[in-house]
Amino acid sequence: MILDTKFTVTDYEEGAEQVFCPFCKKKVAQYYIDEIAIEPCDHFAFFYMSEVGFDKLSKEFKKKLYEKYNSIWDFEFPDSLEEMGFGKDDLHIIDATEYGIACGPVSFEMFYVFDKTQHNGELDDSFRDEEDKW
Ligand SMILES: [Zn+2]
Repeated sequence: MILDTKFTVTDYEEGAEQVFCPFCKKKVAQYYIDEIAIEPCDHFAFFYMSEVGFDKLSKEFKKKLYEKYNSIWDFEFPDSLEEMGFGKDDLHIIDATEYGIACGPVSFEMFYVFDKTQHNGELDDSFRDEEDKW
């Protein structure tokens, strides 16, 4: 996958039921039967789903996004992360993409993104109400 060449990427081990921060080792996600409970650590930047977008965006990462882009629609995962100056040493992405078979193979891309340079795990959910503004 192209992600591997630009950032440090590890796979979510299916059935592991928990996700840990690669930097501080804190548990950030717990899987239940039909939901995922996310508790960010200081490095947790965001959770990203293809077709859906951000979830659990941290305040600090939102600030970094705002400095670079005018609108949420200008952000493209994962290319924008590189444009923002992130490289292999700064970001660690856990690829939790789920694969399944429906009418042919389907996949549901999900990523946990950790920013080593970030030191604030506070969430900012307000962007949801602002629609295409930050
Ligand atoms: Zn952490």
